[in-house]
Amino acid sequence: MKFVITGGAGFIGSHLSEKLVFRGHQVIAIDNESTGCAQNLSAIMPHPAFTYIHDDISAVNYWEQILSENTVIVHLAATVGVNRVAENPLETLYNNYTSTVSLLNLAARYACKFFFASTSEVYGDSDRAFSTESDSLVINGTHCGRTSYVLGKLLSEHYCLNYHQTHSLPVIVGRFFNVVGPRQLDRYGMVAPTFVKQALKNEPITIYGDGTQTRNFCDVNDITEAIIKSIDTKAAYGKILNFGGKDNITIHSFAQYVKLATHSASPIVFLPFPKERSNGRDIYHRSPSLARIENITGWKPITPWQDSVKAIISSLKHAQIDTSFEQRVIV
Ligand code: UDP
Repeated sequence: MKFVITGGAGFIGSHLSEKLVFRGHQVIAIDNESTGCAQNLSAIMPHPAFTYIHDDISAVNYWEQILSENTVIVHLAATVGVNRVAENPLETLYNNYTSTVSLLNLAARYACKFFFASTSEVYGDSDRAFSTESDSLVINGTHCGRTSYVLGKLLSEHYCLNYHQTHSLPVIVGRFFNVVGPRQLDRYGMVAPTFVKQALKNEPITIYGDGTQTRNFCDVNDITEAIIKSIDTKAAYGKILNFGGKDNITIHSFAQYVKLATHSASPIVFLPFPKERSNGRDIYHRSPSLARIENITGWKPITPWQDSVKAIISSLKHAQIDTSFEQRVIV
């Protein structure tokens, strides 16, 4: 099969590109390197089945050459990260939904399949034990730093499902819950690489709030498997599916494990929520119901979150040794 992956040099995109190429597919990755990095693709860069386009997805001149009937477009490119979103609310909202609309138009014109990466952020600060795809959503007001991100993703979801209904376009919407693994940047506030880097440097591990807030972390390898499995499953088209990990853990226990696994002397400190998280409320509890994706595709997460932490530790230790990589990727 032929895959076009937007955000292909990013954290999830580069893992997905690698997996697909090694399984014999043709992959074209497009990335403007705003947060991604060509270095992430070094394992497949020379491969004849792989093409890398360093460009913005709004630049239209190459699309005609790369799309054809049954090409699968996996749309991962987006403005991401709590800090970056809070700093650029208008750019986030506008870019995140207009890029999806343009790609849906192209997908309809060339009879492609379309996978859209949405987010668990759309559930907001839900009181439910598990977020289910059919839940009503809790949306913060415009004063909240994350709202532009949520609205950009929600508008995109809405366009996707309506393209499915009105144009019979084969579309899947995946809501991702806290994906973790090597190559994720700490720069924009994500907790896993932030804590691991702090621990490796024996600096304080900075918990926001009292650390009782919870998340389900899902390994990037499990997520890429879930993307591929859903694309291969006819019944997944036209659906919203949660993609996440199975264990719901507190941020405090996550910090404690990172400290243990790195043999770090870091103190664990509790700080007030920074402004970009506290305008509105930081999401306190978040946990996916995985019943729908399991019933439809048979996919289940298999990697313990502790193994994801170990993989991040090992990749960051390696990056510390390779200083050229550190300069380009971690900053
Ligand atoms: N978090 C934290 N310290 C940090 C970064 C994040 O305590 O240095 C917390 C954050 O408040 C949130 C959780 O970790 O409750 C996950 O944050 P992340 O930005 O990775 O994901 P999201 O908030 O989007 O779930």
